[in-house]
Amino acid sequence: MCQVGEDYVEPPPREPPPVPRPGCGQKCVKCKQGDPVVVIRAGDAFCRDCFKAFYVHKFRAMLGKNRLIFPGEKVLLAWSGGPSSSSMVWQVLEVRPHHPQGLSQDSAKRLRFVPGVVYVDEGAACGQSPEDRAKTLAEVKQVLHVVNFPWHLVALEETEALCRLFESVRTLTAKEELLQTLRSHLILHVARAHGYSKVMTGDSCTRLAIKLMTNLALGRGAFLAWDTGFSDERHGDVVVVRPMRDHTLKEVAFYNRLFAVPLVFTPAVDTKAPEKASVHRLMEAFILRLQAQFPSTVSTVYRTGEKLVKAPRDGCGGGPSGPRCLLCLCTLDIDTADSATAFGAQTSSLSQMPPSTLQAEAGTPTAPCCAVGEGPGCCWKARGRTDDAQAQVTQQLCYGCRGNMSDLPSLDRLPPYILAEAQLRSQRAGVMQEIQEYLIEDSSDEAEGPQS
Ligand SMILES: [Zn+2]
Ligand SMILES: [Zn+2]
Repeated sequence: MCQVGEDYVEPPPREPPPVPRPGCGQKCVKCKQGDPVVVIRAGDAFCRDCFKAFYVHKFRAMLGKNRLIFPGEKVLLAWSGGPSSSSMVWQVLEVRPHHPQGLSQDSAKRLRFVPGVVYVDEGAACGQSPEDRAKTLAEVKQVLHVVNFPWHLVALEETEALCRLFESVRTLTAKEELLQTLRSHLILHVARAHGYSKVMTGDSCTRLAIKLMTNLALGRGAFLAWDTGFSDERHGDVVVVRPMRDHTLKEVAFYNRLFAVPLVFTPAVDTKAPEKASVHRLMEAFILRLQAQFPSTVSTVYRTGEKLVKAPRDGCGGGPSGPRCLLCLCTLDIDTADSATAFGAQTSSLSQMPPSTLQAEAGTPTAPCCAVGEGPGCCWKARGRTDDAQAQVTQQLCYGCRGNMSDLPSLDRLPPYILAEAQLRSQRAGVMQEIQEYLIEDSSDEAEGPQS
């Protein structure tokens, strides 16, 4: 089975879109002349040309309505090889000025940004063999040559460390979340390194409806507007936009089939996983099944998502410049005083926990491994250091990310740049605290020296 979703983490195609069978003599509902080839909703049969116009118009309208992308701006298209992101790249290609397949002058005017494509090779995390990875990459390059935009081919990490990290994650849910996090860090890194100020992802409304429900279940309710909205400004200098959010999976499949959009199939972390293997898979099966019976399911969830606002909770320390989650980079919704909330309970229990309990939670043995106790070579000391590092990371995670990271036996296996950032932040916090102490002593008139 292959990864075929519209976004990066996508389900395999469960079945091909049904071939529409319009009634005898029926004509396209738009032009009343063409032979219908696509039925979007009951009764709405479109001819090939009208479907294309409808499809491309949605894409341009989404960009036009939000007015976020400026002429000449460098935009990085995050392409996974799956249907929706491939469809997105194809539309950008088709409405480019001077492109042989380009549309009217009018449409060309609206897309005068400078596109580039990024493809993330995550074969290492998905357990793909080197041969299979090479084969996939050859297909990827073939498509990139056809598209002929500047492109960036990057691998999550070439070392064995990444494989070990992913193998150590205990649940598929945490594995999927971790993969999404690392992938988004990498895409942002590529964008910054090459001067792109926008990143476009191919999330369709079907995918976003599933993501909204999944993230709600994962304790990310506070960040839904960022995670599923049209634009995501959490990174400041690089804004992530989702121009495919009005397209359904069904429309994407029709468009790709009618216009022979090239796709590259790659395995995902949940390939071959049963339906209940992760929150992601379960929610996807739930929404798609509901959608099959009640066709307004996806649009209802999606429209509800549109109403969510991106404001931190009242009374929370995290403004735009407040502390950010180390992994998802959302404003830390820390509310330690309020222990009645799940987050408050989690935070206070973490700070009160002795290091050995933390380890027990993480699934490593708790019995002392040497009988020396306090000696210089005692492993309790070494363990203490590990716990410090673990706590340093955990303290800087949001509620949802803490939940996911609790499924990792050890946070030491996270990529070094994340650990380094965690260390830097807690050092900075330590220095700030020291300065604070001196400031208080300065302000007092007592003639005592600094306490040692
Ligand atoms: Zn027509
Ligand atoms: Zn987070």
